Amino acid sequence: MIGLRDFSIKNKLVLMQVFTCVLVLGLCFAAFVITDINGYKDRKVASTVSVAQVIGSNSISAIQFLDNEVAEKTLFDLQKVEADVVNASIIDSRGNVFASFTRPDKPAYTFKPPFSDQHRFDDHYLYVYKNIRDQQDMIVGTVCLQVELTQLEAIKKQKFEIATVLLFVGITLAFLIAYLNQRYISTPLLNLVNVMKQIRENSDYSRHVEVSGKDEISILSSEFNNLMDEVAKSHQKKDEFIGIASHELKTPLTSVKLYLEALAKMKHEPLVHTFILKSKEGVKKLHNLILDLLDVSKIESGQLQLNHKELSIDELVDECIEDAQMNTVNHTILREGQPSNKIIHGDRDRLEQVLINLISNAAKYSPGGTNIAVETLASDDEITVTVKDHGIGIADSEHKKIFGRFYRAKDSNSVISGFGLGLYICSQIIKRHKGKIGVESEEGKGSTFYFTLPLSSRVIENNPAIDLKSKV
Ligand code: ADP
Repeated sequence: MIGLRDFSIKNKLVLMQVFTCVLVLGLCFAAFVITDINGYKDRKVASTVSVAQVIGSNSISAIQFLDNEVAEKTLFDLQKVEADVVNASIIDSRGNVFASFTRPDKPAYTFKPPFSDQHRFDDHYLYVYKNIRDQQDMIVGTVCLQVELTQLEAIKKQKFEIATVLLFVGITLAFLIAYLNQRYISTPLLNLVNVMKQIRENSDYSRHVEVSGKDEISILSSEFNNLMDEVAKSHQKKDEFIGIASHELKTPLTSVKLYLEALAKMKHEPLVHTFILKSKEGVKKLHNLILDLLDVSKIESGQLQLNHKELSIDELVDECIEDAQMNTVNHTILREGQPSNKIIHGDRDRLEQVLINLISNAAKYSPGGTNIAVETLASDDEITVTVKDHGIGIADSEHKKIFGRFYRAKDSNSVISGFGLGLYICSQIIKRHKGKIGVESEEGKGSTFYFTLPLSSRVIENNPAIDLKSKV
């Protein structure tokens, strides 16, 4: 069930304003109705008491001379002036009924003591008791009237109709006004959320939220911008550090690598030879990581230079397959489909880096060792290169994320080593070639990575700063 907390702020604001409006409207209306009804009752009591008083004065001598016929006539005549009187009685000083009258359409009512000056209401009637006093101010009897509150029902009905109309109009107006007003709060909040989303998706910390005004949301937006400035600065420092550190590490590591290669060519005892080969492997991994870190640093600082030339995509694919096959014995890398015979403009080394990366990932993430298929598909305006494996696959939710910096899919984290940089570098290289890169994959069922390159357009672009931060 959806709770109030699950409502959007926009809906909450509208609801709150409509609720407040209905509450205020309801209270005002209730006060108005109560005052109106009380006014009517007060007027009714006053007029009925006057009528009782007149009857009492007219009946003094009838009571004193025990002439109840006259008294009953007085009561009978009463309906001519006060049609709402349903029952009327004159009670003598001993509490006995001296004269009474009942309107023909209503049942008779027996008035109960005490017979003192008083009035009371029940749901439909007003009961008025008025003592009759003689010249010496002695009580000689009491006039009792039961009066129908016909107008009260009419007043209630009329007020209910007005309340319904007012409530409907009030809710509609409140809704419209609330809907227009909520934009002042929800729009800047939604803007903030959108910018946050974009920052998270593109890791572009230079994005700022527009700040207009001085209210709390503007303060929040401005603080958010300050925070992002800080994050951007610390990212920049981190990138600078990565760039400097990897550069400083590269030179001695290249020497170590060369010495190890030289050592590996010499004759050694088998155990020493094994150690040298293991060291070579480790140094190679380290060297590759440093190259990746240097690439990331170049991409981030806008210094990744591309050297575009015409090249045959078929030759490139064949060479990469050959190179990649040398690094794996458990997998067979196959060229599928027909050669495309297409010439493209691009940086050969960088495109080779992309393809080798995709093929080596296909091998790395297919631990069981199966076939890996590489295919080129040409259309009129672009060429698509696909690398298909039958490995561990990737969950849907990770498809976009794996092209981010240092991102590794959750399943591969603990099992297979890596830094989450390869695909990020690939995506940036392909982006710089004005192509697209992506993946189709299902967990446990293998993956097909692909990238496209435009055929017709000259993808040569020498301004490395363009689009460097944008992702796939
Ligand atoms: P690394 O392989 O060093 O972790 P990458 O950037 O090359 O970094 O890949 C990012 C993540 O994408 C990997 O950690 C892995 O989870 C996932 N991935 C890449 N290629 C494949 C593949 N062929 N099959 C399954 N997962 C893959």
